[in-house]
Amino acid sequence: MIFDTIVIGAGHAGCEASLAVARSGFKVLLITGSIDRIAALSCNPAIGGVGKGHLVKEIDALGGEMPNIADLSGIHFKILNSSRGPAVQATRCQNDMNLYQLKMTEQIFSTNNLYIQQDNVIEILTDKDGALGVRALRSGKIYSKTIIVTVGTFLNGQIHIGDEKSSEGRIGESIVPGLSKSLKSLGFELGRFKTGTCPRLDGRTIDYSKTIKQEPEHSVAMFSFENNSPLIRQVSCHITHTNPNTHEII
Ligand SMILES: Cc1cc2nc3c(=O)[nH]c(=O)nc-3n(C[C@H](O)[C@H](O)[C@H](O)COP(=O)(O)OP(=O)(O)OC[C@H]3O[C@@H](n4cnc5c(N)ncnc54)[C@H](O)[C@@H]3O)c2cc1C
Repeated sequence: MIFDTIVIGAGHAGCEASLAVARSGFKVLLITGSIDRIAALSCNPAIGGVGKGHLVKEIDALGGEMPNIADLSGIHFKILNSSRGPAVQATRCQNDMNLYQLKMTEQIFSTNNLYIQQDNVIEILTDKDGALGVRALRSGKIYSKTIIVTVGTFLNGQIHIGDEKSSEGRIGESIVPGLSKSLKSLGFELGRFKTGTCPRLDGRTIDYSKTIKQEPEHSVAMFSFENNSPLIRQVSCHITHTNPNTHEII
């Protein structure tokens, strides 16, 4: 089968891209490493904030899916910088990671023109006129003249934990080599960004009496104009701070 578009990677960008293509009436193949990890939220499952909040609002204006699903799965909403002027205020929510993934996966699987393949792309195929398709590890050659690459942090990604280093896109999700090399051989310049992540704590080990409770806000601007207020049970966040002892350990 020849597709109008192939999207590589069903993270947030890949889901929006493939939905947009399919809803415009074109046949799109979304190829992703694991269909169980479609639209997996990052380690800090927050959506919005200054900068990214604007992006999510723009996706809503363009008919995208993230804003609605962020509202549907939001468990703690807050307006950031509410004591400052409107230019720097932004909605941010914490999300139920499983619910977010489930709702986006439902959307992906129920959209016409959108085909899903669980596989890893290892090469972009080209001829002198441009893109021809991709080569995937198990499925082999698949053809389309339009290819959208949305592979997030998986291109040659590395994770450092203490002195240990491993090749992973996210923790526990290995990288299938090939695509970085293929992009490089086509003349794309590859760089690497750095991000850090928060420690995962077992809630049962935390003495909440020593934390500052942050209640959710119920009267906030939602991400989608379709929604007016939080839609599921809201929970509080709990704030702690580092101190000279933790600085010493770091
Ligand atoms: C340690 C860490 C902490 C982070 N913390 C935050 C945070 O707190 N807040 C935040 O907003 N962002 C955070 N990020 C960034 C986060 O990754 C992005 O915000 C978000 O996931 C980007 O979405 P995406 O669609 O671009 O890519 P991703 O969500 O990474 O999705 C990429 C998808 O492509 C698939 N894929 C990759 N290679 C291939 C291939 N060759 N063939 C087929 N499929 C492939 C992967 O399996 C994955 O499903 C963090 C990232 C890391 C690594």
